Amino acid sequence: MRLTDDHETFRASVRQFVETEVNPFVDEWEAAGKFPAHELFPKAAKIGLLGLEYSTEYGGEGADHSFQMVAAEELGRMDSAGVGMAIGVQSMMATPSLHRFGTEEQKREFLAPAIAGEAVTSIAVTEPDTGSDVSRLRTRAERDGDDWVITGRKMYITNGTQADWICLLARTSDEGGYKGMSQIIVPTNLPGFSVSRTLNKLGNRSSDTAELVFDGVRVPVSNTIGEIGRGFQQQMAQFIIERMFAAYSAVGTCDKALARTREFVHERSVFGEPLASKQYVAFRLAELQAQVELLRSLNHAVCETHMAGEDITRLASVAKLTSGRLVREVADTCLQFHGGMGYMEETWTARLYRDVRLASIGGGADEVMLQVLARLDGLPA
Ligand SMILES: Cc1cc2nc3c(=O)[nH]c(=O)nc-3n(C[C@H](O)[C@H](O)[C@H](O)COP(=O)(O)OP(=O)(O)OC[C@H]3O[C@@H](n4cnc5c(N)ncnc54)[C@H](O)[C@@H]3O)c2cc1C
Repeated sequence: MRLTDDHETFRASVRQFVETEVNPFVDEWEAAGKFPAHELFPKAAKIGLLGLEYSTEYGGEGADHSFQMVAAEELGRMDSAGVGMAIGVQSMMATPSLHRFGTEEQKREFLAPAIAGEAVTSIAVTEPDTGSDVSRLRTRAERDGDDWVITGRKMYITNGTQADWICLLARTSDEGGYKGMSQIIVPTNLPGFSVSRTLNKLGNRSSDTAELVFDGVRVPVSNTIGEIGRGFQQQMAQFIIERMFAAYSAVGTCDKALARTREFVHERSVFGEPLASKQYVAFRLAELQAQVELLRSLNHAVCETHMAGEDITRLASVAKLTSGRLVREVADTCLQFHGGMGYMEETWTARLYRDVRLASIGGGADEVMLQVLARLDGLPA
C-alpha cells in the first residue's frame, strides 16, 4: 500500500498534536491516574482525530480508513500509552457501531458531540465475571414501555470516570448465549448510574479505568443502536476495528522505542566500546525492526482489505496477536539494553514496559485471537 503526501501531511499534524498537547503533560497525568479528556478531546477533534472516517454531516472528515491507520500509528508513539488508548476508544471502539448502525437522530445527538470532542465516550462490554467470553455477560436491559431499565456491572471501562455516554452491551431477552443482546447508548447523567471504583493499574496510568454500576438506569428504547437482539454481532464487528487500532498503534510504539534504543546503544559504552558495536545488540535490534516491518506490511494488508469491503476477521486477528507479542518483546529488549537505568521510573523504558503488557490482554487476549484463528482453520477450539 502506498501512502501519499496527504497521509504524510496528516501524520505530521498528529505528531505535532502529540508533541505539543500530550507529551509535555503525561508525567502529571500518569501521577494523577487520569488525563483531562474534556480538555484534550476538543483539541484532538480540531485535527480530525475523533471522526476521521465518519460522515462530514456529523462533523467527521469523510476520509478513508488508511488515515485512521496513520493516526493510530502516531498515537502509538505517545510517551504514555494511556492517552492514545483513550483516544482510540473514542474513535475506533465506542463509536463505530453508532456510525454504522445508528439512526439519524442518534448520530446528531450522540455521535456529532463525540466527533467534536465535546462528549467523552466509553465502550462497556466486560463484566466482573466475564471478559473473553462475551456470551456469558449478565447485565440486563428489561423493557418497560418505551424504556429499557438496565441493571448490572461493567468492569475495566476505559474513560469510565469521564464518559458522557457509554456504548453498552446488555442482554435484552432471555435467549441466552450469543443471542438476545443489544447495544444501547447510556448517558451517564441518569439516576442509577454510578462509578463504583476507579481501578489502580500496572500501566496505562494516565487513562482512567473504572467499574460501573447500573442500578435500574432508565433509557429510551430509541437509544438502541441498530437492531434489538443483534448486539453481539454488531459488537463483534466493532471489536474488529478495535483490534486494528491495537495493531496499527503497536507499529508506532515499536518504531519509536527501537529508534530511541538505537540512539542509546551508540552513546552507552560497555567493555570500552559502544554497546552498538556488540553484534548481539545490533542483530537483536535489527531483527526486531525487521519484525516491525512485517507487522507494518500486514497492517497495510488489513487496511486495504477492509477498505475493499472484504472480511478481515483472519487478518485483523493475526495482526492483533502478532502486535501484542511484538510490542511486549520490543519493550522488554529496549529496557534490557538500557541496563539498570532502563529499570528506573525516570527512564521511558520503565513506563513502556508496564504499558504494553495490556496489549496481549485488552481488546481480546492472545488466546482469544488464537481461538478465532483455530476455528477458522477448522480446529475445534
Ligand atoms: C486497562 C484495561 C482497559 C480495558 N478497557 C476496557 C473497556 O474500555 N471496555 C471493556 O469492555 N473492556 C475493557 N477491558 C477489558 C478487557 O477487554 C478484558 O480484560 C479482556 O477481554 C479479558 O477479559 P477478562 O479480564 O475477563 O479475562 P478472562 O476472560 O477471565 O480471561 C483470563 C485469561 O484467560 C486466558 N483465556 C481467555 N480465553 C481463553 C481461551 N479461549 N483459551 C485459553 N485461554 C484463554 C487469557 O490468557 C486471559 O487473559 C480493559 C481491560 C484493561 C486491563
